[in-house]
Amino acid sequence: ELSARFEDAVKGLRGQAKISDTNVEDALKQVRRALLGADVSLEVVREFVEEVRQKAVGAEVVRGVTPDQKFVQVVHQQLVEVMGGDNAPMAEAEDSPTVVLMAGLQGAGKTTATAKLGLHLKDQGQRPLMVAADVYRPAAIDQLRTLGEQIGVDVFSLGDDVKPEEIAAAGLAKAREEGFDTLLVDTAGRLQIDTEMMEEMVRIRSAVEPDEVLLVVDSMIGQEAAELTRAFHDKVGITGSVLTKLDGDSRGGAALSIRKVSGQPIKFIGTGEKVEALQPFHPERMASRILGMGDVLTLVEKAQKEVELADVEKMQKKLQEASFDFSDFLQQMRLIKRMGSLGGLIKMMPGMNKLDDGMLKQGEQQLKRIEAMIGSMTADERNQPELLASQPSRRRRIAGGSGHSPADVDKVLADFQKMRGFMQQMSKGGGMPGMPGMPG
Ligand code: GDP
Ligand code: MG
Repeated sequence: ELSARFEDAVKGLRGQAKISDTNVEDALKQVRRALLGADVSLEVVREFVEEVRQKAVGAEVVRGVTPDQKFVQVVHQQLVEVMGGDNAPMAEAEDSPTVVLMAGLQGAGKTTATAKLGLHLKDQGQRPLMVAADVYRPAAIDQLRTLGEQIGVDVFSLGDDVKPEEIAAAGLAKAREEGFDTLLVDTAGRLQIDTEMMEEMVRIRSAVEPDEVLLVVDSMIGQEAAELTRAFHDKVGITGSVLTKLDGDSRGGAALSIRKVSGQPIKFIGTGEKVEALQPFHPERMASRILGMGDVLTLVEKAQKEVELADVEKMQKKLQEASFDFSDFLQQMRLIKRMGSLGGLIKMMPGMNKLDDGMLKQGEQQLKRIEAMIGSMTADERNQPELLASQPSRRRRIAGGSGHSPADVDKVLADFQKMRGFMQQMSKGGGMPGMPGMPG
């Protein structure tokens, strides 16, 4: 069971204070094994593991989250990112019909996927036309016809004596004439990648200039998905893919390979033999399927939110007591950075929507500078910011100690005073919901 194996994967990180170069090695080794077990190709696994290493080592681990949980989150997030983040919709031509070319090996599920897409589009109120351009297998045309009747979508065919590219072109002409919205061209595959198949695909592509070339991949093909994708993408050029037979045992690792090799999104997944068994591809869900770690992730997210809330509450209390000092300033800056966006902070602190944007949108560099300067302060200076305001010699010493100019120190001091002034004013005047004892 992959899920169990992956849990083993990160056990080594349990009880560690943070993720480091040394303790991450074992966990990475296990990730590598887990992904190979999920049928991700070796080259893709290698690259992926390096990316995870870079993101995991030194990653900030918030209170309430253990490094092993954090590690899982990094792996999951990287999986989602590599697989494209969000669902990618199907292309739509400016002038209809939108032309979709189905490509892939024999038995991958092209004809089935063509019908599934036909039904999907029809359900959306469109009028698709399916083209039977597989002239090699006698049953192929009948198969598409039968499916067409079943779902109530028209099928265009010229029998099996005409070249596939000519059938496709004639289908396109018909779709234009009769106002179909989408042309779905079903093609022939072979058992293996070969030159003839590729050349035929290129001829069909030239004949209809598709808006979308969808590579249909059987998810059970496993590690070979990378090689297959590379061949089709190099020779024909794909714009997306359909990953089929995910109702089976496969963990879906092929999704990672397809995306990484081609850079093109997986758009749909097939989850059964029936024509209804088609779903849009969601990177998030696939990442969870590959890892089988849903529960741990929820836990990490929850812990993260709680920590952020606790920090915000502490800050609010400080403001009330007007004891906001340089350490708080630094913490505030870190908090803002960690929450990623000001939007998140504003949501958590009602009444803060009038904050000076320019001041708060401090970049990473600014934060580093502030950290260095505060690091050069004495404890007294940190707790009593007035000391700095009144004594230029202290400011010069801090500038020297932190490797900055006195003007830089003045700037940070000004920012600090601005923020403190604003916050104190706000805590006196506005009042924040949920804070007992606040006036107003
Ligand atoms: P083609 O040669 O690429 O056109 O492949 P077909 O569409 O004829 O499909 C080959 C076989 O795979 C058929 O028996 C289909 O019913 C089956 N198939 C296609 N997609 C799926 C799927 O998502 N799940 C399952 N379980 N079977 C599928
Ligand atoms: Mg077929």
